[in-house]
Amino acid sequence: VMEGCDNFCAYCVVPFSRGREKFRPLEAVLGEARGAAGAGAVEVQLLGQNVNSYRDPGSGLGLAGLLDRVADVPGIAWVRFVTSHPRDFGDDIIRAMAGNPKICRSLHLPLQSGSSRVLERMNRGYDREAYLDLAARIKASVPGILLATDVIVGFPGETDEDFESTCDVLRLIRFAGIFSFRYSPRPLTAAARVPDDVPLEVKRRRLLSLQALQKSIQIEINASFVGRELRVLCTGPSVKGGGRFAGRTEGNLVVNFDSAADLTGRFVDVRVTGSGPYSLRAALL
Ligand code: SF4
Repeated sequence: VMEGCDNFCAYCVVPFSRGREKFRPLEAVLGEARGAAGAGAVEVQLLGQNVNSYRDPGSGLGLAGLLDRVADVPGIAWVRFVTSHPRDFGDDIIRAMAGNPKICRSLHLPLQSGSSRVLERMNRGYDREAYLDLAARIKASVPGILLATDVIVGFPGETDEDFESTCDVLRLIRFAGIFSFRYSPRPLTAAARVPDDVPLEVKRRRLLSLQALQKSIQIEINASFVGRELRVLCTGPSVKGGGRFAGRTEGNLVVNFDSAADLTGRFVDVRVTGSGPYSLRAALL
């Protein structure tokens, strides 16, 4: 629904590689959603590098309105959107998520660092407190929502204390999933002009430590679903094969279950029978 970005985070090449923000007209997005639904799609994901800043070039309608309009398309049961910027996440989007059951209770909200000092150097436009406050307001308004995030470790100047602040935010928010990366400089970016001064060994150690912490959190979150009934959209045969299928919940958790019939593309109800750090096991109801 949009491409490009005007934000110029210090580490990111997107504003140079994709250019400034460009928005697709509302009618073009709705037309594509109707076409997809007509061809059998039940889930739509609205994509943009900075999807929160969406504005219909004609009417000025923002992302919250777009989400509601796409959710109204006959046949569409689930609507998702990615990627959100914490600074541009308005209350209207929270209200849309809280008020429209077709907008999935799942949100990817990149943190990047839990240290205000590092966030400022990254030019992210929010600090630790603002992120924690936003996450708390979203969780309070949209009960049961699962958050996921992105984290970069070893950004130039990141100290042990900064890194510990990031781990602390992971413990406080308890993300259901993260994508985590070691910092490396990208051409043209502001960060590439300052020394990449965190040693590779320290970056490696911090990344492993962060991932171990996150794994322990995911084990606990996923275990809390055992015994519960969930609605799952079957995405296809599991990589393990043998009559096993995989699907996703509204919260974007991966669920594996056995089925004699191919249920790809269909919603099924399951009871969760087991869990691991990265997926749930379930039985068809
Ligand atoms: Fe834009 Fe995201 Fe890159 Fe920042 S990290 S410049 S918000 S695309």
